Amino acid sequence: MSEKDLTVTLLGTGSPMPDPNRAGPATLISAGEGPDAEHYLVDAGRGVLMRLAAAGLGAPNLTAVLITHLHSDHITDLNDVITTRWVMTFEETPLTIVGPVGTRSVVDHLIASLEPDIGYRIAHHQDLDHRPPVTVIEVSEGAVELPDDRGGNVAISCGQTDHKPVEPSVGFRFDFGGASVVTAGDTVPCAGLDALCSGADALVHTVIRKDIIGDIPLQRMQDTLDYHSSPAQAAQTAAKSDLATLILTHYVPAMPMSGTEDDWRALAAEHFSGDIEIGDDLHRVVVKPRS
Ligand SMILES: [Zn+2]
Ligand SMILES: [Zn+2]
Repeated sequence: MSEKDLTVTLLGTGSPMPDPNRAGPATLISAGEGPDAEHYLVDAGRGVLMRLAAAGLGAPNLTAVLITHLHSDHITDLNDVITTRWVMTFEETPLTIVGPVGTRSVVDHLIASLEPDIGYRIAHHQDLDHRPPVTVIEVSEGAVELPDDRGGNVAISCGQTDHKPVEPSVGFRFDFGGASVVTAGDTVPCAGLDALCSGADALVHTVIRKDIIGDIPLQRMQDTLDYHSSPAQAAQTAAKSDLATLILTHYVPAMPMSGTEDDWRALAAEHFSGDIEIGDDLHRVVVKPRS
């Protein structure tokens, strides 16, 4: 890794179903290294700060949190990020949270649920004289503008994805040092995601094994088929934009119950000839600019 690298770390490769080895959905996009590095957390699923700690970082290091949609498994630990950022920084350091319309209301309610804790800590700690400072930016498509004191080296844009009936939902694109990566979140193939991927190098896509889920005789499982992508569909999206790398995450059902990494990779490889990255939590991929 160098000061010019754009890296993807799969912090949580799990799903709504608790898994002893996979944290909930969360992906870290890092640009550069050292004190000037920028770190963007995309979604904040179960256990995200444990995995972030394992990656050598903490809530104070986050340049911004970006939320793809408001499904509970993607925001389970957003309250933990808000609180931990607040109590582990020693001067007022606002946490920037970017997400689709509706994010502000969710954050307001999270903070309301934390009111007793906020009161205890302000009363108990002499040097803590402010509430959790949070800046929420709601987005739908186009450039994402962060506050002046946040980031600056990474160009971030977003576009609408299709996770209906979950609306709105967005994907994000990060451009740094000539390389670019798109984080799709949960979506079926759609024009908004294609536009984000155009000219990019890598795509991080959540996936489910529809061939396995489709055989489970439970309506609640069947319901998940129509608003997620299979590895084949994610691969088709990557192929359409001629990307170099496809990074799959959010494995449903979890491995190894649903097969090996090679089994999953083979499903995508039928439709995409670039690199296909699959891994455990903390799997890291360096995204290189195309030569
Ligand atoms: Zn979802
Ligand atoms: Zn999901």
